[in-house]
Amino acid sequence: VAKDKGMSVYQFYNQELEDSLSEKMELENGMRNAVEAGQLYLEYQPKVDPHTGEPVGFEALVRWNHPEKGFISPAKFIPLAESTGLIIDIDMWVFREACRQTKAWQDGGLMSLPVSVNLSAKHFGQVPLVDNIRQILQETGLEGKFIRIEITESVFIRKLDDVIEILKQIRDMGIGVSIDDFGTGYSSLNQLQRLPISVVKLDRNFIENADRDRRKSSVVRAVIELAHSMDLKVVAEGIETEQERSFFAGLNCDELQGYYFSKPLSKERFERYIQSRNEREV
Ligand code: C2E
Ligand code: MG
Ligand code: MG
Ligand code: MG
Repeated sequence: VAKDKGMSVYQFYNQELEDSLSEKMELENGMRNAVEAGQLYLEYQPKVDPHTGEPVGFEALVRWNHPEKGFISPAKFIPLAESTGLIIDIDMWVFREACRQTKAWQDGGLMSLPVSVNLSAKHFGQVPLVDNIRQILQETGLEGKFIRIEITESVFIRKLDDVIEILKQIRDMGIGVSIDDFGTGYSSLNQLQRLPISVVKLDRNFIENADRDRRKSSVVRAVIELAHSMDLKVVAEGIETEQERSFFAGLNCDELQGYYFSKPLSKERFERYIQSRNEREV
């Protein structure tokens, strides 16, 4: 009986593994032409002033509309794209599209808020990231000062001198650099000090319950004070409640982002969101 049971568990496990492997391969193959087939699109999530709730910028987030599977979350396909190298093409498509759209909104008089774009740490290897960005700025006509890139602490596994050099060249184009998901990796603010960055984005892990958990709230307070003393702006992401908003506003966070203010929005809905705020102003 024990042997039988062992067999069936083994077979079950094997089948699951096979399914997930073939699903992975299917997704990988699909991703190869997703960019060219026009299956990727962007959503835009506002970043707001902690006290007024008014938008001060926004983040462009990639979405994949798969012909058969429908919507696939970036949390699922970005890691796959990173392991196959396709992330380079995807991120550059996102960067170009975000710049094109932001410039179109500027030219149309909707707004001139800066856009944030996520960049995988994979760009800090052999690819000519700086040349690629320079070309996109030329093509789209968007000035660097309207762009912020978001990179995670995983850049620290790259050769630090190379990363610093690349980031300096990006900064020289007027582009701001944020460290995304801060607090989920292993870097300290002290390490971050070596990079030419201007913003740290506190991960949702830092946000959740920080208003109620005393130990957590003192860590968060110390991190924000230290970041400010290093002349870094602090963005808190994943704000979901009024309690969280007032807590982080009280700690002098510079910008807030989260479902409490707005989920990521389609182009049309984001335009309406900005439009309605423009109307309130006049
Ligand atoms: P991220 O850059 O840290 O983006 C924030 C994620 O948190 C987004 O998930 C956003 O929708 C979600 N979020 C925003 N507010 C809240 C909130 O109040 N509560 C909760 N629970 N979540 C909130 P999304 O869009 O699914 O993206 C997931 C991750 O995928 C991003 O995390 C980023 O790491 C990656 N990603 C997205 N677009 C790109 C891209 O164009 N290139 C690269 N390399 N990565 C991307
Ligand atoms: Mg981000
Ligand atoms: Mg993040
Ligand atoms: Mg993230």
